[in-house]
Amino acid sequence: MPVTGISSDTARLPDDVNAGGYGFHVVGARYGIGVGASPQCPVCFGELLPIADDAGRLFRHLVAQDEARCPLSTPSYQPDAPSVARKRDAVLEREQRGAFIENWQRHFQVMRRAVPSLTVRRFTYLIGYADVMNLWSYPALEQHDLPYVLLTLAQFMRAGAMGGRPVWVRFCFDATVRDIGDLWTQRGSRARLFKMMYNAPRETPFPTSRQLIHYETVRRDPSFLETPPPWMKRADVKEFQRFAAAGRPPADAGRADTGTS
Ligand SMILES: [Zn+2]
Repeated sequence: MPVTGISSDTARLPDDVNAGGYGFHVVGARYGIGVGASPQCPVCFGELLPIADDAGRLFRHLVAQDEARCPLSTPSYQPDAPSVARKRDAVLEREQRGAFIENWQRHFQVMRRAVPSLTVRRFTYLIGYADVMNLWSYPALEQHDLPYVLLTLAQFMRAGAMGGRPVWVRFCFDATVRDIGDLWTQRGSRARLFKMMYNAPRETPFPTSRQLIHYETVRRDPSFLETPPPWMKRADVKEFQRFAAAGRPPADAGRADTGTS
């Protein structure tokens, strides 16, 4: 069974159906029951408006601000991401970063299953980014959520090709998670994680919702840390060991960089 099992509620859009103003498919929305109930966007939780179309499955957001900001409809190539707002706690950081580094192969494997094109180098960039953002200083941090958190921090990534055409990928949590720390509250632990696939952008540095091909729910595996570590290529192990040996950079080291694209 795949660790990042993809659930069946996958919305597939033919090319360009999603292009501005035509709305998006919603799968797995929490449709209200009863007169006057509105469907809710599964990603941003905004109220949705059905658009007349052949299949009766296209929607727009009722509120323009939702339409502008939600990954399903935003014209921006820099959609909102959850904040990572924590003051550095050196003790917690040493402990929680250390636990992550100790299990790095397992974390990497979970991420690699979600994005087969992910390299160890990119993985180390993401750890470096988490360092700068003080991700390790959340007291309630759950190690088994970290691969998914790093995937969302990565924002847009090139993800190989589909049918001979280059595609990009991005992960995002639903609107329960405004700050990554929300994930470690009672409500946030049930937040849905979405994997969004995009055609390559033509006019912008990163894709917008116009390039969205489909999106799906990623089931988070809470028990992968209890499995044996996966086999890794020697060169990958060496590269990671070099990174780990360099240790955590000082608090003011450089600018935050996810190594995007
Ligand atoms: Zn939305």
